Amino acid sequence: MSRTILIYAEIRDGKLRQVALETLAAARILAADGDSIRILLAGSNISEATSALIPYGADTIYTIEHDDLENYSPDAYMAAVHAAIREAQPDIVLFGHTAIGRDLAPLTAAALSAGQISDVISIEVKDGEASFTRPLYAGKAFEKRVFQSEGWVITIRPNNIPAAEPPADTGNPSIVNIAYPSPSLRSIVKNVVRKTSGKIDLAEAKIVISGGRGVKSEAGFKPLEELADLLGGAVGASRGACDAGYCDYALQIGQTGKVVTPEIYIACGISGAIQHLAGMSQSRVIIAINKDPEAPIFKVADYGIVGDLFEIVPLLTEEFRKILV
Ligand code: FAD
Repeated sequence: MSRTILIYAEIRDGKLRQVALETLAAARILAADGDSIRILLAGSNISEATSALIPYGADTIYTIEHDDLENYSPDAYMAAVHAAIREAQPDIVLFGHTAIGRDLAPLTAAALSAGQISDVISIEVKDGEASFTRPLYAGKAFEKRVFQSEGWVITIRPNNIPAAEPPADTGNPSIVNIAYPSPSLRSIVKNVVRKTSGKIDLAEAKIVISGGRGVKSEAGFKPLEELADLLGGAVGASRGACDAGYCDYALQIGQTGKVVTPEIYIACGISGAIQHLAGMSQSRVIIAINKDPEAPIFKVADYGIVGDLFEIVPLLTEEFRKILV
């Protein structure tokens, strides 16, 4: 029996987020012959994201556009998701494991009386059965889960499943505009003030250069920013650095901060507390720079440099500049 897979494609400032294409890639892994892949785009300005999605070979793109959807609020966005669910009657709904996806997924699972598996980093389909791998205990262990009932809601951790590419035969998705149901909202978000440097989204950056208490001051982040700018990466931080006032909490990575899984994570002057590892240990390659050879960060690092970050980071920048500029 063919199934309908609905993807919630997240957008920010009118642009498709990378995680939307990773979620689409996850849907393709799950889809069997005859299954239908459909995408939901909701927001107040979605024409650019809709055009960007057309080549990706979905069967249907549902669009819901309304001023209420300018800033995220659970009431408004859940009303949009509900409307798409009524239209699509999906068997499977996929979200990115982002702040928004983590909010909408359990509401959706409850609405569908579906099971939910969250924070999935890989999917395997063998003999028609899908199993989902997710990290546990701050990345110290992994578990494989399978659904036992019909009705699946899944969230996909960003930067783990390679983003979908447009297929050779892109097909011609039907674009279906769904009317926003205009629920009465219990609260509205008037304005969102971003506190990040705004250059590259930390959660989606392919390269993250993070500073800890070892950077010693706000000015101590400058060499890290220079390296990040050169490599097209983003700057992150440990809570130690945030608590010390060296940087904004928007940069905090870890259990109570952001979870990042870049291709390269460079930890500078970070000891490697378990709460920090919870936010970065799934990075593809971890490089640690620390003057203490016993620092726990070296246990998770693929490459370690024992030394003073104020000497090593500028040297790295200089060497990369020779190659890249
Ligand atoms: P430190 O542990 O002080 O380490 C600084 C390191 O810098 C040392 O290893 C030192 O050798 C090195 N260093 C010093 N100078 C230099 C130099 N010149 N060159 C090279 N290396 C140098 N932490 C997080 O990061 N994220 C979280 O989300 C988080 N959540 C938490 C939640 C809870 C409930 C609790 C209790 C704690 C949480 N923490 C979190 C805090 C965590 O336990 C650590 O205290 C914190 O990660 C330490 O930050 P740090 O490694 O920057 O500082």
